[in-house]
Amino acid sequence: MTTALLHRRFPALEPMLPFLRLGDAPTPVRELRGTGRGGLWCKDESGYGSGGWGGNKVRKLEWLLPELRRRGTRTVLTVGATGTNWGLAATLYARDLGIDTVIALIDQPEDAHVREQLSRLRGSGATLHFTRSKPLTITAAPWLFLRHTRRLRLPVYLPAGGSAPIGVLGYVEAGLELGEQVAAGELPEPRHIVTAVGSGGTAAGLALGCALAGLRSEVLAVVVNDTLPLATTDLTRLADRAAAVLRKRGATFDVRPLRLASTRDYLGDGYGHPTPEATAAAQVAEAAGLHLDPVYSAKAFAAALTADPDGPVLFLNTYGPRG
Ligand SMILES: *Cc1c(COP(=O)(O)O)cnc(C)c1O
Repeated sequence: MTTALLHRRFPALEPMLPFLRLGDAPTPVRELRGTGRGGLWCKDESGYGSGGWGGNKVRKLEWLLPELRRRGTRTVLTVGATGTNWGLAATLYARDLGIDTVIALIDQPEDAHVREQLSRLRGSGATLHFTRSKPLTITAAPWLFLRHTRRLRLPVYLPAGGSAPIGVLGYVEAGLELGEQVAAGELPEPRHIVTAVGSGGTAAGLALGCALAGLRSEVLAVVVNDTLPLATTDLTRLADRAAAVLRKRGATFDVRPLRLASTRDYLGDGYGHPTPEATAAAQVAEAAGLHLDPVYSAKAFAAALTADPDGPVLFLNTYGPRG
């Protein structure tokens, strides 16, 4: 096991903030060719993680899981849409530590992609409750907590997408990693970093991590979810909460203001609703060797193809299917 870059940067954190390495870092960066635009780079998170699922949720679990283990957690309760990548990753990696995962599932537009994901979820060992909508999930919450209490211990709740402040640290770490890759000359300093926003932790963490790394890149947060507040101010607040965790556990730094802007221009009719731009972008990506999903990464890639034509632009590929 290697130590986290965050621990190297702030040695005081090491005893205060446990880290569990789950993937091979650094993740690769490469220039994408044949996309019809120049100056487009990719940092590819798809291969991150050793278990049955990869992608961006694994980095959040590297901080969330050891924290849960330290608290003696036996059961996690979380929420997601029926195609939840977060729920699947959480279940698979928590299971390795003997922690059970219970997921309240909210409906999303059903297609082949969602059905395939739901079948992976059924095979993962997660306990699934089809609570269908946000209001019904909130109504069911007390029952869910009691139903899954074991030996007088309530399940620990983790928010959608794993975007609790400690989970956000996964992308602070990735931002530091990117800083090292830029310093080593593997890619130019991006003017923009484009990533999909479902619960916000990835974009918020990256913005904080880039600031800590001294990068001047602006994170362009492409909102693909209309069921959570994900405006620039919400994402900045989430980054501030992650920064507060770091400070509380011994790090000292000053990084204001963060370079972060969110856009809803690629959302279409809402979470999980396909858009023509995303469908076309996924085909362009495929030709450049990237396999994207329709809910998150294809919408972000559509933005990456058009944003900041002078670049350089870095696309963060967050989608990590296995098998
Ligand atoms: C969850 C997810 C995202 C969004 O990340 P957040 O941190 O929740 O904003 C992006 N891409 C994929 C493939 C995801 O599963």
